[in-house]
Amino acid sequence: MPRPTHRLNLYVVPDDPDRALDELRLAAAVERLRAEGVLSGWGPGAAADRLVPGGFRRLRIDRPAQACLYGNRQGGFHARCPSCGDHLARALGPALAQWRAGRPRLVACGCGVSTDIAALDFAPPAAVGQFAVEIRDVQTTELAPDGKPWLASGIGGFVVVGSRGP
Ligand SMILES: [Zn+2]
Repeated sequence: MPRPTHRLNLYVVPDDPDRALDELRLAAAVERLRAEGVLSGWGPGAAADRLVPGGFRRLRIDRPAQACLYGNRQGGFHARCPSCGDHLARALGPALAQWRAGRPRLVACGCGVSTDIAALDFAPPAAVGQFAVEIRDVQTTELAPDGKPWLASGIGGFVVVGSRGP
C-alpha cells in the first residue's frame, strides 16, 4: 500500500485544448468500458488492467468551471520557452487567465518569442484542456493497449499527464 503522498493519478486530456466535452460520446465510451468489465460503476471491474496495467481505484470525469492546466501536483513541473529554454512558470498563470478571458493562448517570453501554452516544454508532461478523464491510483503512466482506443472513442485524440500528489 503506497503512502497517500505517493499516489499517482492520470489525466487523459484532449490534444486540442479548445475541444469541449461531448457528453453523449463520452457516455457511450464509459458504457463500453462497463460492458468490457473494465469499469464497475466508476470503480475498477475485473478487467481494469486492460485500461491501465495494474489497474486503478477510480475513474471520474473532471469538469473544471474553466480551462485547466493539468500537471504534476506534488513537486510541480517546469514550463520552458521552446525557443530559449527560459523558465516561464511565473508568466504561465497570467497567460492562462488571458486565455480563459477569450484572448489567444499565448505566453510571452523575455526573449521576444510568444508560444502557445500547449506548446511549452513541460517536464514532466503537462497539458491544458477544458476537461479530462481522471484515472485515480495507478501504478504507471502508460495506458494499456486496449485503453487507448477506448478513451479516444470517448474524447478524441489525447495526451496523458501523470500527477503525483494527494
Ligand atoms: Zn524564450
